[in-house]
Formats: sequence, structure tokens, C-alpha cells
Amino acid sequence: MKFSFVTLFPSLIEFYFNDSILARAKDKGILSCEFYNPRIYTNNKHQKVDAPVVGGGAGMLMTVQPLFACLDDIKKNNEDIHIIFATPVAKDFKQNDAKRLAKKKHIVFVSGRYEGIDERVIEKYADEVFSIGEYVLTGGELPSLVMADAISRNIDEVLGNASSLELESYENNLLEAPSFAKPENFDNLSIIKEFSKGNHSKISDLKFQMSLYKTKYYKPNKEIR
Ligand code: SAM
Repeated sequence: MKFSFVTLFPSLIEFYFNDSILARAKDKGILSCEFYNPRIYTNNKHQKVDAPVVGGGAGMLMTVQPLFACLDDIKKNNEDIHIIFATPVAKDFKQNDAKRLAKKKHIVFVSGRYEGIDERVIEKYADEVFSIGEYVLTGGELPSLVMADAISRNIDEVLGNASSLELESYENNLLEAPSFAKPENFDNLSIIKEFSKGNHSKISDLKFQMSLYKTKYYKPNKEIR
């Protein structure tokens, strides 16, 4: 999988791939990342990438010209790309999206800044748009990173142990049951007794029931399949 990030602030994203699981995936050649800064693509003397909103309104918008030039360049030099814009004006990114997108070869994430991106850019280039939740961030770098991270762990061999994905939250629309690590007693806090008795079918029944409770409690509107 190749991730290309279109961003005015590549350093906000780059560092994340230098440690832990994603760094190992990069070292193994499973993942690669590249960065495109729209500022490089400006055709004006001061490399301006923003302009006031037509018709009035607070703040500035990222303008068409540098983003058109940047995205045309990416399209010209790469086949089979999937372009995703991070924007609060979209459906929420879900685990199923992460799984589906993990099968792509090359994803381009476009991060907005200021008051966002001129709608014509999104209309022309977006294969998909995603919000990461019902709040407004200062830029699309965190959303792009959130999506890239969630997608990455669903790519074969990125996680050392693929079975970690099986009973995770949002598999089967359920939240994960509580888990405990050794030691079983710490500071007089013990764990659910059944978990240490080794009866795996009982443990999995119990975990399933607890998953249901957690899901009903924290996500009462979630449809349980
Ligand atoms: N004026 C825009 C609005 O009200 O919808 C908000 C623009 S926001 C300050 C700047 C950029 O941050 C957006 O273009 C987008 O790329 C990113 N962004 C902010 N919140 C986001 C969210 N919840 N999900 C995805 N992207 C977000």
C-alpha cells in the first residue's frame, strides 16, 4: 500500500510513520508514504494557497489552482489511485471503510486547512470524502493520519498477529469485552474469576455477553447483528 498525503504541513504526518507498527511495516516494504505540498504547485509569486470566501464569510479557503496542479501531477504519475478528502462535511469513517480501503493499492489523502477547501476541488478529484467525527479540527492532517492508521492495521502482515483483528471492537458491530493482563492480582484488584479457569468456551460466552452489554451501554443506537 502506498499512501500519498497532500498537505501544507507534511511534518505533522511524517513523524507518525517513524515508530512502532507502521515503521516496521514501512521497513518490511508493506507500506510506503510520500508527501505533496500544494504550496510547491502555486503559480503566484508569494506561493499563496488561500483566498477569501466568495460571497463573504469568515476566514480563508484553500484555492483551486495549487490543488488542481498538485492532484493532476499525482494522477499523471500514478495509476490506480483512490483520492480521499478529509472534511467534516461527510459521512463518518468506520471500521468497515478501513477494511475495504485496505485492499486498495494507493490512497491519496487530501488535508484541508483554514476554513477548508474550495468545493470545486472536492467535486473534481474526490473518490470519497470522510469525516472522522462530529467536531471541527484545525486541519485534515490528523483525520488523514487516523484513516491511514486504521487502514494500515487491516493490511495483511502489518500486525504481527493477525488474530488480534478478530475479536476487536467493531467486528460484528460490537465493542470489545474487558480484557486483563497478568498478574491476575494487583493491589488487591482481581480480575473476573472465570477468565483464569481455562474453560475457553465459557470464557468466550462470557466475553460475548460482556461485549453486548458494553455495546448497548456505550452505543445504545447501534444495530447489533
Ligand atoms: N469550515 C469547515 C466546516 O465548517 O465544515 C471546517 C474547516 S476545518 C477548520 C479545516 C480542515 O480540517 C477541513 O478542510 C478538513 O480537512 C479538516 N477537518 C476538520 N474537522 C474534520 C473532521 N471532523 N473530519 C475530517 N476532516 C476534518
